[in-house]
Amino acid sequence: MLSYRHSFHAGNFADVLKHIILIQNLEYLTKKDKPFCCIDTHAGPGKYELDGEYALKTREFENGIAKLWQRKDLPECVARYVSLIKRFNSPDKLTRYPGSPLITKQLLRDKDRLCLFELHNTEIKLLTAEANKDKRINVFHADGLTDCLKLLPPFERRGLVLIDPSYEIKSDYQQVVETLVAMHKRFATGTYALWYPVIERSRNQKLERAIKAGGINNVQLFELGIRADSNEHGMTASGMIVINPPWTLAAEMKQVLPWLAEVLGNNNEGFYRIETLVSDD
Ligand code: SAM
Repeated sequence: MLSYRHSFHAGNFADVLKHIILIQNLEYLTKKDKPFCCIDTHAGPGKYELDGEYALKTREFENGIAKLWQRKDLPECVARYVSLIKRFNSPDKLTRYPGSPLITKQLLRDKDRLCLFELHNTEIKLLTAEANKDKRINVFHADGLTDCLKLLPPFERRGLVLIDPSYEIKSDYQQVVETLVAMHKRFATGTYALWYPVIERSRNQKLERAIKAGGINNVQLFELGIRADSNEHGMTASGMIVINPPWTLAAEMKQVLPWLAEVLGNNNEGFYRIETLVSDD
């Protein structure tokens, strides 16, 4: 049974990086007139109350969106992200945080589609209430890691797959790579963005080795750490592995990540990684 609830973590430093990269990918897709399809394999409930019981229990958003919210010196991509989050809040008060489904919805044009998977029995109800009225959106109460394959390739032949597991089950690390390889076989020109936490660095090294051995080209990694690696302090960093990223993404992240590492890093321990895991040939 799944017990993870993203409401405890919404708007934290990991969401900041994940959602900035999501927005950059979607904005790139909207630069061409042709429609696209976005598939979110682990959608969550859609939106979060930052003044609610769950968020206030951990207060993780305080070292995330709350630190960026009122700043006037934001790099361009961070400013775009913050302004999108502001659409869900009154001008001076940060109380709501949109999850990936609502962020993506903001950037869909009439001709684009969004397919959402969520397995948790409570989260799916919230998500359905949030998203199902929109004709461009389909919600599936199903396993996103297996069932998303049925949607590939999308008929638009352009698209993004966001894979944002909670890694509750250790086998998730292995399953995401197998899924990525299978998805890429069906839809090789698609963009894939896989989120990962850094809790125990050795697991990430294994994940990166598996991706490099997976036979997929053009893979970049973007990571933001707020504390030095440690096996004792929970999540110290997180990142996104992006297959077929927009060609502009690495340059954008070179502006964003050093800045975020400084602003969100704890006790000057913030760090970042921008790496090409597999080149484009
Ligand atoms: N993507 C969301 C966002 O950015 O706002 C957050 C998603 S949260 C990290 C992960 C979600 O995946 C949880 O709501 C969990 O219930 C759900 N989940 C876990 N395993 C799943 C699976 N195999 N298929 C679909 N959803 C799953």
